[in-house]
Amino acid sequence: MPIIVQKFGGTSVADPDLIRNVARRVAKTRDQGKQVIVVVSAMGHTTDRLVELARAVGDCTPEREMDMLLATGEQVTIALLAIALTGMGYPAISLTGAQAGIITDNAHNRARIVSVDQERIRQELEKGQIVVVAGFQGIDGRNETTTLGRGGSDTTAVALAAALNAEVCEIYTDVDGVYTADPRLVPEAMKIDCISYDEMLELASLGALVLQARSVEYAKHYGVTIHVRSSFNDNRGTLVKEVSGMEECRQLSGVAHDVNVAKIGLFDVPDRPGIAKHLFKALAAEKVDVDMIIQSWMRSGKNDIVFTVTRDDLPRALPVVKRVVGEVGAAGMDYNDHMAKVSIVGAGMVSNPGVAADMFEVLAKENININMISTSEIKISCVIEEDEVIRAVKAIHARMIEKQPA
Ligand code: ADP
Ligand code: ASP
Ligand code: MG
Repeated sequence: MPIIVQKFGGTSVADPDLIRNVARRVAKTRDQGKQVIVVVSAMGHTTDRLVELARAVGDCTPEREMDMLLATGEQVTIALLAIALTGMGYPAISLTGAQAGIITDNAHNRARIVSVDQERIRQELEKGQIVVVAGFQGIDGRNETTTLGRGGSDTTAVALAAALNAEVCEIYTDVDGVYTADPRLVPEAMKIDCISYDEMLELASLGALVLQARSVEYAKHYGVTIHVRSSFNDNRGTLVKEVSGMEECRQLSGVAHDVNVAKIGLFDVPDRPGIAKHLFKALAAEKVDVDMIIQSWMRSGKNDIVFTVTRDDLPRALPVVKRVVGEVGAAGMDYNDHMAKVSIVGAGMVSNPGVAADMFEVLAKENININMISTSEIKISCVIEEDEVIRAVKAIHARMIEKQPA
Protein backbone atom coordinates (compact mmCIF):
# COMPACT_ATOMS: atom_id res chain seq x y z
CA MET A 1 0.00 0.00 0.00
CA PRO A 2 1.46 3.42 -0.92
CA ILE A 3 2.56 5.64 1.95
CA ILE A 4 1.71 9.32 2.12
CA VAL A 5 2.95 11.90 4.65
CA GLN A 6 0.60 14.77 5.51
CA LYS A 7 1.78 17.64 7.71
CA PHE A 8 -0.61 20.15 9.30
CA GLY A 9 0.73 23.44 10.64
CA GLY A 10 -0.35 25.38 13.72
CA THR A 11 -3.23 27.33 12.17
CA SER A 12 -4.66 24.10 10.71
CA VAL A 13 -4.96 22.52 14.18
CA ALA A 14 -5.67 25.65 16.23
CA ASP A 15 -8.91 24.44 17.89
CA PRO A 16 -11.03 21.27 18.30
CA ASP A 17 -13.15 21.95 15.18
CA LEU A 18 -10.01 22.35 13.09
CA ILE A 19 -8.53 19.17 14.54
CA ARG A 20 -11.71 17.35 13.53
CA ASN A 21 -11.36 18.91 10.06
CA VAL A 22 -7.82 17.51 9.84
CA ALA A 23 -9.05 14.11 11.04
CA ARG A 24 -11.65 14.07 8.22
CA ARG A 25 -8.97 14.86 5.62
CA VAL A 26 -6.68 12.16 6.94
CA ALA A 27 -9.56 9.65 7.01
CA LYS A 28 -10.37 10.48 3.39
CA THR A 29 -6.80 9.70 2.36
CA ARG A 30 -6.96 6.43 4.31
CA ASP A 31 -10.22 5.57 2.50
CA GLN A 32 -8.33 6.03 -0.79
CA GLY A 33 -6.21 3.03 0.19
CA LYS A 34 -3.09 4.82 1.46
CA GLN A 35 -1.07 4.26 4.59
CA VAL A 36 -0.96 7.65 6.28
CA ILE A 37 1.68 9.24 8.47
CA VAL A 38 0.47 12.55 9.85
CA VAL A 39 2.87 15.14 11.26
CA VAL A 40 1.40 17.96 13.33
CA SER A 41 2.56 21.24 14.83
CA ALA A 42 1.54 22.74 18.15
CA MET A 43 -1.97 24.26 18.20
CA GLY A 44 -2.17 27.86 16.94
CA HIS A 45 0.40 30.11 18.64
CA THR A 46 1.19 27.63 21.41
CA THR A 47 4.96 27.63 20.74
CA ASP A 48 5.10 31.45 21.01
CA ARG A 49 3.15 31.30 24.27
CA LEU A 50 5.50 28.69 25.69
CA VAL A 51 8.47 30.93 24.84
CA GLU A 52 6.73 33.84 26.64
CA LEU A 53 6.04 31.61 29.65
CA ALA A 54 9.72 30.72 29.90
CA ARG A 55 10.73 34.37 29.77
CA ALA A 56 8.16 35.18 32.45
CA VAL A 57 9.73 32.81 34.97
CA GLY A 58 13.44 33.41 34.42
CA ASP A 59 16.01 35.72 32.86
CA CYS A 60 18.03 32.93 31.40
CA THR A 61 16.42 30.24 29.28
CA PRO A 62 18.74 27.22 29.13
CA GLU A 63 18.56 25.60 25.71
CA ARG A 64 17.93 22.11 27.08
CA GLU A 65 15.01 23.25 29.23
CA MET A 66 13.54 25.24 26.33
CA ASP A 67 13.48 22.04 24.29
CA MET A 68 11.74 20.18 27.13
CA LEU A 69 9.16 22.98 27.26
CA LEU A 70 8.57 23.58 23.54
CA ALA A 71 8.28 19.87 22.73
CA THR A 72 5.13 19.73 24.88
CA GLY A 73 3.19 21.83 22.33
CA GLU A 74 3.24 19.19 19.60
CA GLN A 75 2.48 16.41 22.10
CA VAL A 76 -0.91 17.93 22.88
CA THR A 77 -1.86 17.96 19.20
CA ILE A 78 -0.79 14.37 18.42
CA ALA A 79 -2.89 12.96 21.23
CA LEU A 80 -5.93 15.08 20.31
CA LEU A 81 -5.73 14.12 16.64
CA ALA A 82 -5.35 10.41 17.50
CA ILE A 83 -8.39 10.72 19.81
CA ALA A 84 -10.40 12.43 17.03
CA LEU A 85 -9.46 9.76 14.47
CA THR A 86 -10.23 6.89 16.84
CA GLY A 87 -13.60 8.49 17.62
CA MET A 88 -14.38 8.46 13.88
CA GLY A 89 -13.62 4.75 13.72
CA TYR A 90 -10.09 5.06 12.24
CA PRO A 91 -7.42 3.27 14.32
CA ALA A 92 -4.66 5.77 15.08
CA ILE A 93 -1.67 6.04 17.39
CA SER A 94 0.27 9.12 18.42
CA LEU A 95 4.08 9.04 18.66
CA THR A 96 6.52 11.61 20.02
CA GLY A 97 9.58 12.40 17.90
CA ALA A 98 11.63 9.97 20.00
CA GLN A 99 9.05 7.18 19.67
CA ALA A 100 8.89 7.79 15.93
CA GLY A 101 12.67 7.33 15.66
CA ILE A 102 13.64 10.92 14.80
CA ILE A 103 17.32 10.91 15.79
CA THR A 104 19.08 14.28 15.83
CA ASP A 105 22.44 15.79 16.71
CA ASN A 106 22.75 17.43 20.13
CA ALA A 107 22.34 21.09 19.06
CA HIS A 108 19.44 22.07 21.33
CA ASN A 109 16.89 24.47 19.77
CA ARG A 110 18.32 24.01 16.26
CA ALA A 111 19.00 20.27 16.02
CA ARG A 112 19.50 18.53 12.70
CA ILE A 113 17.96 15.15 11.94
CA VAL A 114 20.80 12.66 11.48
CA SER A 115 18.74 9.52 10.90
CA VAL A 116 15.25 8.05 11.13
CA ASP A 117 14.75 4.71 12.82
CA GLN A 118 11.67 3.46 10.96
CA GLU A 119 10.97 0.30 12.92
CA ARG A 120 8.18 1.53 15.20
CA ILE A 121 6.37 3.45 12.47
CA ARG A 122 6.53 0.44 10.11
CA GLN A 123 5.14 -1.83 12.85
CA GLU A 124 2.22 0.50 13.51
CA LEU A 125 1.46 0.94 9.78
CA GLU A 126 1.44 -2.83 9.36
CA LYS A 127 -1.12 -3.07 12.17
CA GLY A 128 -3.32 -0.80 10.09
CA GLN A 129 -2.85 2.28 12.27
CA ILE A 130 -2.74 5.87 11.10
CA VAL A 131 0.49 7.11 12.68
CA VAL A 132 0.37 10.64 14.12
CA VAL A 133 3.86 12.05 14.78
CA ALA A 134 4.85 15.13 16.78
CA GLY A 135 6.68 17.50 14.44
CA PHE A 136 9.62 19.74 15.39
CA GLN A 137 11.14 17.34 17.94
CA GLY A 138 13.58 14.48 18.13
CA ILE A 139 16.01 12.75 20.43
CA ASP A 140 19.80 12.90 20.46
CA GLY A 141 22.37 10.20 21.15
CA ARG A 142 22.11 10.81 24.93
CA ASN A 143 18.31 10.41 25.01
CA GLU A 144 17.83 14.15 25.36
CA THR A 145 14.81 15.82 23.77
CA THR A 146 15.79 18.23 21.00
CA THR A 147 13.85 20.64 18.77
CA LEU A 148 14.57 21.46 15.13
CA GLY A 149 14.24 25.26 15.07
CA ARG A 150 11.08 27.27 14.41
CA GLY A 151 8.98 25.84 11.62
CA GLY A 152 10.73 22.49 12.13
CA SER A 153 7.64 20.30 11.69
CA ASP A 154 8.09 20.74 7.93
CA THR A 155 11.48 19.05 8.25
CA THR A 156 10.06 16.20 10.35
CA ALA A 157 7.51 15.54 7.60
CA VAL A 158 10.09 15.57 4.79
CA ALA A 159 12.48 13.35 6.78
CA LEU A 160 9.73 10.77 7.35
CA ALA A 161 8.68 10.92 3.69
CA ALA A 162 12.30 10.29 2.66
CA ALA A 163 12.89 7.46 5.15
CA LEU A 164 9.64 5.63 4.38
CA ASN A 165 9.81 6.30 0.66
CA ALA A 166 6.43 8.04 0.65
CA GLU A 167 4.92 8.91 -2.72
CA VAL A 168 4.55 12.56 -1.68
CA CYS A 169 4.95 14.83 1.32
CA GLU A 170 1.90 17.09 1.61
CA ILE A 171 2.37 20.25 3.68
CA TYR A 172 -1.06 21.61 4.61
CA THR A 173 -1.12 25.23 5.69
CA ASP A 174 -3.33 28.34 5.81
CA VAL A 175 -2.62 29.52 2.23
CA ASP A 176 -3.20 27.74 -1.08
CA GLY A 177 0.48 27.17 -1.85
CA VAL A 178 3.70 29.08 -2.43
CA TYR A 179 3.02 32.54 -3.89
CA THR A 180 5.18 35.08 -5.70
CA ALA A 181 5.18 37.08 -2.42
CA ASP A 182 3.59 36.64 1.00
CA PRO A 183 -0.11 36.72 -0.01
CA ARG A 184 -1.04 38.37 3.30
CA LEU A 185 1.12 41.33 2.38
CA VAL A 186 0.67 41.46 -1.38
CA PRO A 187 -2.90 40.58 -2.42
CA GLU A 188 -1.80 40.57 -6.08
CA ALA A 189 0.68 37.73 -5.40
CA MET A 190 0.17 34.73 -7.69
CA LYS A 191 0.23 31.07 -6.74
CA ILE A 192 3.20 29.20 -8.22
CA ASP A 193 2.23 25.79 -9.68
CA CYS A 194 5.70 24.28 -9.58
CA ILE A 195 9.02 25.52 -8.22
CA SER A 196 12.53 24.01 -8.18
CA TYR A 197 14.23 23.02 -4.92
CA ASP A 198 16.91 25.68 -5.45
CA GLU A 199 14.48 28.55 -5.90
CA MET A 200 12.31 27.39 -2.99
CA LEU A 201 15.40 27.06 -0.83
CA GLU A 202 16.37 30.67 -1.61
CA LEU A 203 12.82 31.95 -0.99
CA ALA A 204 12.57 30.07 2.32
CA SER A 205 16.05 31.13 3.49
CA LEU A 206 15.33 34.75 2.57
CA GLY A 207 12.17 34.97 4.65
CA ALA A 208 9.28 33.12 2.95
CA LEU A 209 8.50 31.07 6.03
CA VAL A 210 5.83 28.97 4.32
CA LEU A 211 8.44 26.15 4.42
CA GLN A 212 11.36 25.79 6.81
CA ALA A 213 14.49 26.17 4.65
CA ARG A 214 16.00 23.01 6.08
CA SER A 215 13.00 20.95 4.93
CA VAL A 216 13.66 22.04 1.35
CA GLU A 217 17.36 21.22 1.69
CA TYR A 218 16.40 17.77 2.98
CA ALA A 219 13.81 17.24 0.22
CA LYS A 220 16.37 18.17 -2.44
CA HIS A 221 18.93 15.78 -0.99
CA TYR A 222 16.53 12.83 -0.90
CA GLY A 223 14.44 13.76 -3.95
CA VAL A 224 11.18 14.10 -1.97
CA THR A 225 8.39 15.91 -3.83
CA ILE A 226 6.64 18.42 -1.55
CA HIS A 227 3.07 19.53 -2.23
CA VAL A 228 2.26 22.74 -0.34
CA ARG A 229 -1.51 23.21 -0.14
CA SER A 230 -4.36 24.53 1.95
CA SER A 231 -5.99 22.55 4.73
CA PHE A 232 -9.18 24.55 4.16
CA ASN A 233 -9.98 23.59 0.54
CA ASP A 234 -9.15 20.95 -2.09
CA ASN A 235 -7.31 23.26 -4.50
CA ARG A 236 -4.13 22.06 -6.07
CA GLY A 237 -1.21 23.78 -4.39
CA THR A 238 2.47 24.16 -5.30
CA LEU A 239 4.79 21.29 -6.18
CA VAL A 240 8.38 21.68 -5.00
CA LYS A 241 10.59 19.33 -6.99
CA GLU A 242 13.45 19.05 -9.43
CA VAL A 243 12.41 21.15 -12.41
CA SER A 244 14.06 20.48 -15.76
CA GLY A 245 13.97 22.84 -18.71
CA MET A 246 14.57 25.91 -16.57
CA GLU A 247 14.32 28.09 -19.66
CA GLU A 248 10.58 27.45 -19.65
CA CYS A 249 10.21 28.86 -16.15
CA ARG A 250 9.37 32.43 -15.37
CA GLN A 251 12.49 34.54 -15.11
CA LEU A 252 11.58 35.66 -11.58
CA SER A 253 9.83 33.39 -9.09
CA GLY A 254 9.13 35.67 -6.20
CA VAL A 255 9.97 38.34 -3.65
CA ALA A 256 10.82 37.55 -0.04
CA HIS A 257 11.60 39.74 2.91
CA ASP A 258 13.10 39.29 6.34
CA VAL A 259 12.86 41.77 9.20
CA ASN A 260 15.04 39.78 11.55
CA VAL A 261 18.16 41.66 10.46
CA ALA A 262 20.77 43.69 12.39
CA LYS A 263 23.77 45.44 10.85
CA ILE A 264 27.14 45.85 12.61
CA GLY A 265 30.03 47.99 11.36
CA LEU A 266 33.69 48.25 12.39
CA PHE A 267 35.37 51.49 11.26
CA ASP A 268 38.93 52.27 10.17
CA VAL A 269 40.10 48.71 10.58
CA PRO A 270 43.82 48.27 9.71
CA ASP A 271 43.96 46.53 6.31
CA ARG A 272 46.27 43.56 6.77
CA PRO A 273 45.97 39.79 6.35
CA GLY A 274 44.29 37.97 9.24
CA ILE A 275 41.91 40.69 10.46
CA ALA A 276 38.77 39.18 8.87
CA LYS A 277 39.78 35.74 10.12
CA HIS A 278 40.20 37.08 13.65
CA LEU A 279 36.78 38.79 13.67
CA PHE A 280 34.71 36.06 12.08
CA LYS A 281 36.39 33.19 13.97
CA ALA A 282 35.58 35.01 17.21
CA LEU A 283 31.94 35.40 16.12
CA ALA A 284 31.73 31.75 15.05
CA ALA A 285 33.06 30.69 18.46
CA GLU A 286 30.00 32.39 20.00
CA LYS A 287 27.74 30.62 17.45
CA VAL A 288 26.84 33.91 15.75
CA ASP A 289 25.46 33.28 12.28
CA VAL A 290 26.83 35.96 9.93
CA ASP A 291 24.94 36.65 6.71
CA MET A 292 26.16 39.44 4.38
CA ILE A 293 29.67 40.88 4.70
CA ILE A 294 31.03 44.01 3.03
CA GLN A 295 34.58 45.32 3.23
CA SER A 296 35.18 48.78 1.79
CA TRP A 297 37.97 49.88 -0.54
CA MET A 298 41.20 50.51 1.40
CA ARG A 299 42.16 54.15 2.02
CA SER A 300 45.34 55.09 3.94
CA GLY A 301 45.78 51.48 5.05
CA LYS A 302 42.31 51.32 6.66
CA ASN A 303 38.87 50.14 5.65
CA ASP A 304 35.43 49.50 7.12
CA ILE A 305 33.88 46.06 7.62
CA VAL A 306 30.09 45.83 7.78
CA PHE A 307 28.08 42.64 8.22
CA THR A 308 24.59 41.44 9.16
CA VAL A 309 23.36 38.97 11.78
CA THR A 310 19.89 38.04 12.98
CA ARG A 311 18.52 40.25 15.76
CA ASP A 312 18.47 37.22 18.06
CA ASP A 313 22.23 36.85 17.61
CA LEU A 314 22.98 40.55 18.24
CA PRO A 315 23.42 40.27 22.05
CA ARG A 316 26.03 37.56 21.50
CA ALA A 317 27.72 39.43 18.63
CA LEU A 318 28.15 42.88 20.22
CA PRO A 319 30.58 41.97 23.06
CA VAL A 320 32.71 40.03 20.56
CA VAL A 321 32.86 42.96 18.13
CA LYS A 322 33.69 45.45 20.91
CA ARG A 323 36.54 43.21 22.03
CA VAL A 324 37.88 42.73 18.50
CA VAL A 325 37.81 46.51 17.84
CA GLY A 326 40.29 46.92 20.71
CA GLU A 327 42.39 43.92 19.73
CA VAL A 328 42.94 44.98 16.09
CA GLY A 329 43.17 48.73 16.70
CA ALA A 330 40.04 49.79 14.78
CA ALA A 331 38.62 53.28 15.38
CA GLY A 332 35.22 52.09 16.61
CA MET A 333 31.98 50.28 15.89
CA ASP A 334 28.25 50.88 15.58
CA TYR A 335 25.12 48.81 14.94
CA ASN A 336 21.53 49.17 13.78
CA ASP A 337 18.93 46.56 14.76
CA HIS A 338 16.11 48.00 12.65
CA MET A 339 17.21 46.70 9.29
CA ALA A 340 15.45 44.36 6.87
CA LYS A 341 16.34 42.43 3.77
CA VAL A 342 14.31 42.36 0.58
CA SER A 343 15.19 39.77 -2.06
CA ILE A 344 14.12 38.74 -5.51
CA VAL A 345 14.56 35.10 -6.56
CA GLY A 346 14.44 33.48 -9.99
CA ALA A 347 16.37 30.81 -11.87
CA GLY A 348 16.03 32.82 -15.07
CA MET A 349 17.97 35.83 -13.83
CA VAL A 350 21.32 34.15 -14.48
CA SER A 351 20.89 34.80 -18.21
CA ASN A 352 19.38 38.27 -17.76
CA PRO A 353 22.01 40.75 -16.58
CA GLY A 354 19.57 43.65 -16.17
CA VAL A 355 17.62 42.25 -13.20
CA ALA A 356 19.79 43.81 -10.50
CA ALA A 357 19.65 47.20 -12.19
CA ASP A 358 15.86 46.91 -12.49
CA MET A 359 15.55 46.14 -8.77
CA PHE A 360 17.77 49.11 -7.84
CA GLU A 361 15.67 51.32 -10.13
CA VAL A 362 12.44 50.27 -8.38
CA LEU A 363 13.97 51.05 -4.98
CA ALA A 364 15.34 54.38 -6.25
CA LYS A 365 11.89 55.39 -7.55
CA GLU A 366 10.52 54.63 -4.07
CA ASN A 367 13.34 56.75 -2.61
CA ILE A 368 14.54 53.75 -0.60
CA ASN A 369 18.21 53.77 0.30
CA ILE A 370 20.15 50.52 -0.19
CA ASN A 371 22.62 49.75 2.62
CA MET A 372 24.07 46.47 1.41
CA ILE A 373 23.70 44.22 -1.62
CA SER A 374 24.43 40.55 -2.19
CA THR A 375 23.81 38.42 -5.25
CA SER A 376 23.97 34.81 -6.37
CA GLU A 377 23.03 33.22 -9.68
CA ILE A 378 19.38 33.04 -8.67
CA LYS A 379 18.85 35.86 -6.15
CA ILE A 380 19.53 39.52 -5.40
CA SER A 381 19.16 40.80 -1.83
CA CYS A 382 19.25 44.39 -0.57
CA VAL A 383 19.48 45.45 3.07
CA ILE A 384 17.28 48.49 3.73
CA GLU A 385 15.63 50.22 6.70
CA GLU A 386 12.93 48.05 8.33
CA ASP A 387 10.16 50.63 8.03
CA GLU A 388 10.58 50.72 4.24
CA VAL A 389 10.50 46.99 3.59
CA ILE A 390 6.76 46.49 3.00
CA ARG A 391 6.77 49.32 0.46
CA ALA A 392 9.83 47.76 -1.19
CA VAL A 393 8.19 44.31 -1.45
CA LYS A 394 4.98 45.74 -2.95
CA ALA A 395 6.86 47.93 -5.45
CA ILE A 396 9.23 45.15 -6.58
CA HIS A 397 6.30 42.76 -6.96
CA ALA A 398 4.21 45.26 -8.93
CA ARG A 399 6.98 46.43 -11.26
CA MET A 400 9.04 43.27 -11.74
CA ILE A 401 6.95 40.16 -11.02
CA GLU A 402 3.51 41.26 -12.24
CA LYS A 403 4.98 42.86 -15.36
CA GLN A 404 6.93 39.85 -16.61
CA PRO A 405 5.48 37.66 -19.37
CA ALA A 406 3.70 34.57 -17.99
P1 ADP B 1 2.05 26.67 9.31
O1 ADP B 1 1.56 27.02 10.67
O2 ADP B 1 1.02 25.93 8.50
O3 ADP B 1 3.39 25.98 9.32
P2 ADP B 1 3.34 29.12 8.52
O4 ADP B 1 2.83 30.34 9.21
O5 ADP B 1 4.63 28.55 8.98
O6 ADP B 1 2.18 28.04 8.53
O7 ADP B 1 3.47 29.40 6.94
C1 ADP B 1 2.36 29.88 6.21
C2 ADP B 1 2.47 31.39 6.07
O8 ADP B 1 3.62 31.72 5.30
C3 ADP B 1 1.34 32.02 5.31
O9 ADP B 1 0.27 32.34 6.17
C4 ADP B 1 1.96 33.25 4.67
O10 ADP B 1 1.59 34.45 5.33
C5 ADP B 1 3.47 33.05 4.86
N1 ADP B 1 4.23 33.26 3.62
C6 ADP B 1 5.33 34.04 3.50
N2 ADP B 1 5.78 34.05 2.26
C7 ADP B 1 4.97 33.25 1.53
C8 ADP B 1 4.93 32.87 0.16
N3 ADP B 1 5.82 33.29 -0.72
N4 ADP B 1 3.94 32.04 -0.24
C9 ADP B 1 3.02 31.59 0.64
N5 ADP B 1 3.00 31.93 1.95
C10 ADP B 1 3.97 32.74 2.41
N1 ASP C 1 5.54 24.60 16.63
C1 ASP C 1 6.83 24.93 16.07
C2 ASP C 1 6.87 26.40 15.70
O1 ASP C 1 5.91 27.12 15.93
C3 ASP C 1 7.18 24.07 14.89
C4 ASP C 1 6.28 24.21 13.68
O2 ASP C 1 5.17 24.73 13.77
O3 ASP C 1 6.70 23.79 12.60
O4 ASP C 1 7.88 26.87 15.22
MG1 MG D 1 5.38 26.64 9.34
